[in-house]
Amino acid sequence: AEEWDRFTSWSQASGEHNRRASTSLPLGVTSSFQHWDPYPITIESARGAHLTDVGGNRLLDLSMGFGAGLVGHLNPRVVEEVTHALTSIGTLFVTPSSQATDMAERFKRRFDLDMLRFTNSGTESLMYAIRSARAYTGRSGIAKIEGGYHGGYDALQVSVKPALEDIGPADRPIPDAPADAVPGEVHVVAYNDLGQLERAFREHGGSIAAFVVEPVIENLAIVLPDEGYLEGVRALCDEYGVVLIFDEVKTGLTAGHGGAAQRLGIKPDLITLAKSIGGGLPLAAFGGKQEIMDVVVDGRMAHFGTYNGNALVMAAAKAVDELITPEASAGLEALNTRTLDTLDAIIGEYELPAHTVGLGAKGCVTWATGPVRNYRDYKATDFGVAELSWLWGVNRGVLTPPGLDEQWLVSLAHTEDDMSVLIEDFRSLAEALRA
Ligand code: PLP
Repeated sequence: AEEWDRFTSWSQASGEHNRRASTSLPLGVTSSFQHWDPYPITIESARGAHLTDVGGNRLLDLSMGFGAGLVGHLNPRVVEEVTHALTSIGTLFVTPSSQATDMAERFKRRFDLDMLRFTNSGTESLMYAIRSARAYTGRSGIAKIEGGYHGGYDALQVSVKPALEDIGPADRPIPDAPADAVPGEVHVVAYNDLGQLERAFREHGGSIAAFVVEPVIENLAIVLPDEGYLEGVRALCDEYGVVLIFDEVKTGLTAGHGGAAQRLGIKPDLITLAKSIGGGLPLAAFGGKQEIMDVVVDGRMAHFGTYNGNALVMAAAKAVDELITPEASAGLEALNTRTLDTLDAIIGEYELPAHTVGLGAKGCVTWATGPVRNYRDYKATDFGVAELSWLWGVNRGVLTPPGLDEQWLVSLAHTEDDMSVLIEDFRSLAEALRA
């Protein structure tokens, strides 16, 4: 209660702003994820690794737009390329731009894709990846992970972080949306459980077009694949002719230079990308194997979008592509690893019931002593302390992502000193918890 009082006191201007915004925007926000109780902090501007809110408070940003800010806010290279597009190229043409071809060639190399198409959001990319899989296989069903979030496309609104009482017995996850709410059947399986996937494929394989999975789950804090899990997934998809879609909207460049698939050595059939590839501008993509992308070539599926591959966003993507070199990715990971190691030492010193999990430039503290391998393990973590930890940080100027199911991001703009602020903040929380 003390921390909530503290919050409502320093963030008063955001509270007032949210009351005003709520008269024109539902909940006062433009994406329901931006809404938190009692109100979100409204941002006036951002630079590097910092945000300034409408009350003039300066916050260390460790959310970085859910990973979209990998190169930092107002990165000078992004600003330079985007300014050049705005002043010398133009932003949107009715015919293709050479900039889109240049970027497609770069993405092909980086992510090891035969072909790809650009879109404007992760949601769109997932929608078209699934449509491609349906057109390619002639099947309509899909399989997805229990509790997994993949954006706003209808077919993926099944079992998105359901309440525990709404889901079935542990050995057989149940979709929590009525089957007629989505086109085609949606089969829900637990992450890290090859037995459930095999059973779903055995019982329904003939009607399942695609299995959609984040290779590392970054919508339940961070959940890593068990050894052999993704290899098993790949083999089962091959056996049953199911298109394997890796949703790398959140992993992508934050997981490493070529994304999580390359890092983990598993090649999906299709991949969806967004967030980190766009330098803070709305860029997303889907792509993969030639024989599947051929559904667009031969007209089995059409893919549209007025803003797809527009020159402005391509300019930002070019800057990101040039900034995120293998050396840059290694540097981000090294800083993140040092942070995780120091936090682990504090957890040990104070005997906190927690552990850290990291991947590439992202990390989180999970409030459980045992490993979290799936949605049900995640739901059993201590959300009370997790919420206090978030509130503790933001009250002291450190903004980790608002959703407890998110993770922090070390961007190109973060320094060792910035990460020390997170560490010292965590130490002060550990002290308070001990007292
Ligand atoms: N897929 C995953 C894994 C996501 O985390 C998100 C958004 O957070 C999406 C898809 C949807 O992306 P967008 O918000 O760009 O539509």
